[in-house]
Amino acid sequence: MTENSDSNKTKGRCLCGQVQFEIQGELRNIVNCHCSKCRKFHGNFGAYTSVKVENLKITEDKGLKWYQSPTDETPNVHRGFCSECGSSLFWHPEDKPDIAVTAGSLEEPTNLKTIGHIWCCQLPDFYEILDDLPKFDQRWKT
Ligand SMILES: [Zn+2]
Repeated sequence: MTENSDSNKTKGRCLCGQVQFEIQGELRNIVNCHCSKCRKFHGNFGAYTSVKVENLKITEDKGLKWYQSPTDETPNVHRGFCSECGSSLFWHPEDKPDIAVTAGSLEEPTNLKTIGHIWCCQLPDFYEILDDLPKFDQRWKT
């Protein structure tokens, strides 16, 4: 492996380290999801990058569990989390080429920035979106 290919890698992990992963190649900038399922899963809105499934390599999966999320907007969504420390890590609609990875699980510097908001129609009553980034009432258009 060359030095160059290694520096091209983004690493991530849960709070306790029983789930660790590496991402090769490009990461989408961060999109905040305000849907009611993310709110339960994260305790507030969810902040995600998105990568190709084949570019995500799980290097430690001791704590990794997959939960089949209630389906409404997107069918057959699996949410990955650490069963030891509770960190929320992944959002993956079955059979889709991309997987969403939580921004907070990535090691810094991420060199990413937040670019917008989705599912704003499901915003709770206890916060408002105060920035001027694009807002959508549905999924992010890629
Ligand atoms: Zn953990």
